[in-house]
Amino acid sequence: MLDPAERSSQSVRSNGSRAILLLLALASLCTSACRRERSPVEQHRLHPGRQLAAHAAPAKMLAERLAPMPPDVLQYLIADGALNGTPATPTAHPIDERERSVVATAFASLPPQIRALAERHVGAIYIVDDLGSSAWTEYFDPPGRQSFMVFDASVLRETANAWATRKERSAFADGTDVRLELAATENDDPGGAFRFIFLHELGHAVSYGQRLLPTWVDNVGSEFPYARLVADVKRTVPNVPYYATADRRLPATQAKSLYALWNASNHPTLYASVGLEEDFAECFASFVHVEMLRQPYRLSLAGDHYDNGISQPRCAPKRAFIAGLIAP
Ligand SMILES: [Zn+2]
Repeated sequence: MLDPAERSSQSVRSNGSRAILLLLALASLCTSACRRERSPVEQHRLHPGRQLAAHAAPAKMLAERLAPMPPDVLQYLIADGALNGTPATPTAHPIDERERSVVATAFASLPPQIRALAERHVGAIYIVDDLGSSAWTEYFDPPGRQSFMVFDASVLRETANAWATRKERSAFADGTDVRLELAATENDDPGGAFRFIFLHELGHAVSYGQRLLPTWVDNVGSEFPYARLVADVKRTVPNVPYYATADRRLPATQAKSLYALWNASNHPTLYASVGLEEDFAECFASFVHVEMLRQPYRLSLAGDHYDNGISQPRCAPKRAFIAGLIAP
């Protein structure tokens, strides 16, 4: 899944999950003589690279879970891109000392309760080249309910502001004058993009690990508390085509009205309006980044300025939800 510049695999997987349930229901009606073929999504779920056995047992410390990419997991990553129509050919990336230091520094800067959440919910962390996005998180099947994460090596070099601005501009035609600041200029160091992206991915891992919302591997029942929290909220922001190809991007003239709609919505960021899973991941990352780490999130558009909504009344129920989750 992803984030920021992440793979847009949710819709296919959601449909695939429904297909799995239908197939399982049909299978229960079959006699022993009745044979069926597994659907592509069902086969995908059973891929060796998705299974715990393909991954090393999690190290105690979070930074030590940064591991060389196992071949089966790389194959799963490639298969996932093909299945979801976002083909890429990632390759294993040999991690150097500078990159390891970027990751270790980011983890060391996290509040202890956030590191504890990550140690509980993140089983492994990998770095590849040519991921086709900035990051991707996948869920292990229950009962473990952990996730593993894959990051593109470029996010260990890019500054937070360059990455955030690039992402925000990806929905609009070239020349749209939008900028997003995630770090004060004097702190906007190479590799600074990693921490916010990691927090977003951690949001995915936490939401799956604690069954806060339905996911492609676990979507039966109605007891998902974050999904319930937002169930009756009407959508007010139209679909924003992040990471769109040039022909699908919005004209610059639509940016002003779109950001104004977002700024009146219950989404902390515009990216959060993309869907339920992204909404939670952005709420989680925003809360840690803005409220706990006291970092800026300032969007500028042709003279207008907007702040992250997580600290504003429009996001109060979501802020309270995340605060309750993180409370020690
Ligand atoms: Zn995401």
